[in-house]
Amino acid sequence: MCRRIVQPDGSVIIACSRGDHRPRARHCAYCPRPVEVLCDGPPQPGSKSKTCDKGVCRVHAHVVGPDVDLCWQCFRDRQRAEREAAAAAAGSAAAAADPPADPGPDLGTV
Ligand SMILES: [Zn+2]
Ligand SMILES: [Zn+2]
Repeated sequence: MCRRIVQPDGSVIIACSRGDHRPRARHCAYCPRPVEVLCDGPPQPGSKSKTCDKGVCRVHAHVVGPDVDLCWQCFRDRQRAEREAAAAAAGSAAAAADPPADPGPDLGTV
């Protein structure tokens, strides 16, 4: 069984019960290797956890910051979001939904 999950940003992910269905799988969500990392990515819709918490091996974990690891799927979602944000910034201003990351010199602190 697979189900479609529409995320707040409008993207659609397909969640299949295989792997996701077992909350405490002892092996990587993508291969038979033992779990070494729990994903720190955003939780799946409806999850009670604060993070994705998907258990993955080192091969399928992506370190994106100090003590922050993402599972393969969260990493792909993040990459796509960053790519779309970059494309939106470079392209039309119609998709500018996020405030600029750089506050600019006008907000200089005293
Ligand atoms: Zn793996
Ligand atoms: Zn994840």
